[in-house]
Amino acid sequence: MRERLVEVWRQFWWDRSLATKFVTVYFIVSLVLVAALVWRSGSQIASAIEEEIEHELEIEAFIIAGTLGKDFEDMYEYGQAPGRLLALMQQLGEGTESRISFYDRSLNLVFSTDPRVQPHQTEMTTEIAAALANSEQHAIRYDPWTQEERLFAAAPVFGEEHLLGVVQISIPWRRVQTRILAEWTTLLFTGGVAILLNTLLSLFLARSIVRPLRELTQAARDLAGGRLDRRVPVRGRDEVGTLAVAFNEMAARLQEMIERERLFIANASHELRSPLTSIQLRAEMLREETLPPERRRRYIEELHHEAQRLHRLAERLLNLSRLNMRPETEALHPVDAVAVARHVVDAFSLRAARKGVTLTLDVPEEPLWILATPEGLQEILMNLVDNALKHTPSGGRVSVRVQAVNGQVQVQVADTGEGIPEADIPHIFEPFYRVDKARSRRQGGSGLGLSIVKRLVDLYGGRIEVQSTLGQGTQFTLIFPATSP
Ligand code: ADP
Repeated sequence: MRERLVEVWRQFWWDRSLATKFVTVYFIVSLVLVAALVWRSGSQIASAIEEEIEHELEIEAFIIAGTLGKDFEDMYEYGQAPGRLLALMQQLGEGTESRISFYDRSLNLVFSTDPRVQPHQTEMTTEIAAALANSEQHAIRYDPWTQEERLFAAAPVFGEEHLLGVVQISIPWRRVQTRILAEWTTLLFTGGVAILLNTLLSLFLARSIVRPLRELTQAARDLAGGRLDRRVPVRGRDEVGTLAVAFNEMAARLQEMIERERLFIANASHELRSPLTSIQLRAEMLREETLPPERRRRYIEELHHEAQRLHRLAERLLNLSRLNMRPETEALHPVDAVAVARHVVDAFSLRAARKGVTLTLDVPEEPLWILATPEGLQEILMNLVDNALKHTPSGGRVSVRVQAVNGQVQVQVADTGEGIPEADIPHIFEPFYRVDKARSRRQGGSGLGLSIVKRLVDLYGGRIEVQSTLGQGTQFTLIFPATSP
């Protein structure tokens, strides 16, 4: 049962568009508010009008009674026909549908401004009873002469010293109602206009929110469908505008990433092709049975060499792609940079000596800790020292220095080699970028070394700087935040 209710609610409300919800809520709220307001003020106005008219009628009765007292007395005493009286009273009741009747002390009708009223004796009605008691009252009741509801009021008429009779005045109740109805109509109309305006306004507001959201949805779909250059127009700086800006930023970033990835794959396949081609060539030649043994041996050597190159390349690619995928910073722990530098210099000392390059190490006695992984830091230093040795001719010098500077750990690898042309410096950290392609490849370089270095340094929260002068040498400076063991 509960689920059923939830399901119905979902269909009727949850699945509706934002604009519908918005407008519905606005409509209902304004309807309730306006209805309450109209009802309250309408009822107050209606009773105020009723009271006002009733009161006016009572006062009118008293004024007439007071004004005409003398005429009534004359009529009684001298039996004068009430010609002047009648004219006066007719004048008073003219055009207003109001009727003025005069009753004598025995409550017999003396005359009335309405010819439809026949001579009769009136009952002791509320307003007449009140008038005889010299107070004021009104009453609403059915009137047989005009066959409609009327509002009555009455007042006593006094002669010189005694009561002469009663003046009764009445108007059709319908007239009061018409006035009240007019007030109600105005109020209802105003309320309706308010609700309509409010709803229109909410519709406008809802649209201004919903339209950019729809655009965003469509753009997200396009993006998912592969249109990487898709962007949305940014209107204003409100939340929706901010969302649009964020979306565009995300799309731009995505496009950049995917394009970089594509380039990377194209480069990687290109790099893999050349060792593979030479492996294929050698393998084909080795199939020749008449091949002299020393040629055969040479080809096998070359095969081995190419396979090694391929292996190295594959390892580096793997390394880089691992670093590109979300690297786990939690796996970092304090590593002594001094010990790693010592180890790397040891590992390269033989090669340096063979090449006739002086490899020196300049480190403090105490350890210097950075947040890293031992393998990663070793990889960084090996790449840098390897590059330095590759690009430094015999008789040159390569130095590795680790020191604490301003509470940070600084690692420097400097050489007195050929240097890097200024125009190439901004690019050397890009994957596959090489200054001298042919030579680098001959030396077994893939252009990936420095990009791996850069990724690792970033991962460890450090930064890397290069200074190089053509023909004089190159210096790589790495700065890492220091940590404690
Ligand atoms: P590679 O594997 O080809 O050495 P790297 O990414 O390690 O690729 O280096 C990119 C390029 O930067 C190299 O091709 C080389 O030309 C240049 N380079 C790097 N280190 C040095 C250095 N110490 N002296 C001169 N050039 C260097």
